[in-house]
This record gives sequence, structure tokens and C-alpha cells, in this order.
Amino acid sequence: MYPSRVPDLPSVRALAELAAAVTCELLRDLPDAAGVSVRIRVREGVWATYYRPPRPARPFGPHVIQLGTRMVVHQLEAPAATDTSGREMHRHGWVRTWGDTPRARLACVLVHEIAHLVAHLRRPPGQRVRTHGPAFQAVLLELHARGLARQAWSRLRELIADPRLDQPVSATVERPARRAVRRATRVTSPRPSTTAFVPGDPVTWPDREGRSHHGTVRRVNPRTVSVVEQGRPATEWWRVPPRLLRRRPGE
Ligand SMILES: [Zn+2]
Repeated sequence: MYPSRVPDLPSVRALAELAAAVTCELLRDLPDAAGVSVRIRVREGVWATYYRPPRPARPFGPHVIQLGTRMVVHQLEAPAATDTSGREMHRHGWVRTWGDTPRARLACVLVHEIAHLVAHLRRPPGQRVRTHGPAFQAVLLELHARGLARQAWSRLRELIADPRLDQPVSATVERPARRAVRRATRVTSPRPSTTAFVPGDPVTWPDREGRSHHGTVRRVNPRTVSVVEQGRPATEWWRVPPRLLRRRPGE
């Protein structure tokens, strides 16, 4: 599952560990987090990347920030950053500042998780912070304005100089996906659920010229299904609207 187009980078696990170390450094310099016990951990093979406040039984800590290695893979290879942090990069224009590169995405994810921590620490007594609500957004924008993303980006750069982390992700893999997506935008009929498909399903689908393609489901997205075409490298894929996908008979 790890990206074969970046073979000489440190393993995804190592990359996640370095990102965790950078998070630790950022917190050390952050006045908001002074004296706060924060545990930063990496979990292998899971997406789950989150901030969790201390358990009610132990109100003084530790706070936990978890980085899942599948989230790291997503920052390295997804043609469009479709996670919360990726959408924020587009919404707030950070993608123009930093480019849609794995390094910039990772830096923004780290700041996102730190923003959860700071929003929690600043919440009015007895209140909960809405996960990605206005209070969180205000903290996130403030941290970016204070240069935390730049700091994260620079530290990641110092630790992992590999220039491939600075290659825009979209430019290298988007072309097949874009064709499929353009077709999807012309479709006016309601979308059937993508949940009828699971990774590994053998499928066929037509392209705009009506030619039939064969492949395997790679990932199920909220609106589309990512499929790798037979005979094509796994690092290239199409995003196909589920209504165009048929499961290959007899398999
Ligand atoms: Zn979040």
C-alpha cells in the first residue's frame, strides 16, 4: 500500500515518526502549550489522526496527538487532498502559498492537530469545543498567521531533504482522474452510493469515448471510487462515479 513512486524516501513509519518529532518541537515553542503534558504517538496501519483531551479520570493529562501512517500515505500520494486538512489548504489558500506538495500537506496536518489542542486549552470552562467549529477555525488561522506552518515545513525540510516531498502531488497523477471527474460533472442523475464497492473488487467502466476499461477498486471515496486499470502502475488511478462501475461478472 505504500507509494511506490517515492521508493527512496524513509519508510512511511519513519516519516510519521519524524512528523511526530516536529510536532513535539512546535509544541515546545508554543506559549499556549507551556506546562501541558502532551503525548504524541504514531500508529501504524490506521488512518486515525486526531487530538484527544485527557481522560476525565486523569484531567491533567496527558493530552494525546495521534498520527496514523495511512494519513501520511494519503499526504504522499492522493491526487487531491480530500481529508479535512487538505480541504482547509484549498479553502484558506495555503495551497497557493505552499503548493500542493506532500511536505506542505504534512505541515498543515500537524498545525491542524495542534490547533485542536490549543482550541481545547482555551475553551471556556465547562464547555466543549465543536470539532471543526468557529473556535477551532479561529485558532487554526491564528497559528498559521503566527508562522507555525512555516516552522513545521522548515523543520520537515531540515529532517528530510528529499526534493520529492516538494513535488506537487496533483501534477504527477491527476490526469487519468481528471478525465473521469469531468465526465462525472456532466452527469445529472442521482449518484448511487459508493458503498456498493470495496477495495479489491474487479470492475469495468466506460470512458468518454465509450471504450471499456478493466481494473480493480483501490479506494472508495465519498463521491467516487478510485480504480487502478489493469496493466497500469498502481500509482496511477481513475476516479470513477460509482454509477459507471460494473463488477466484473464471474469474479
Ligand atoms: Zn480535525
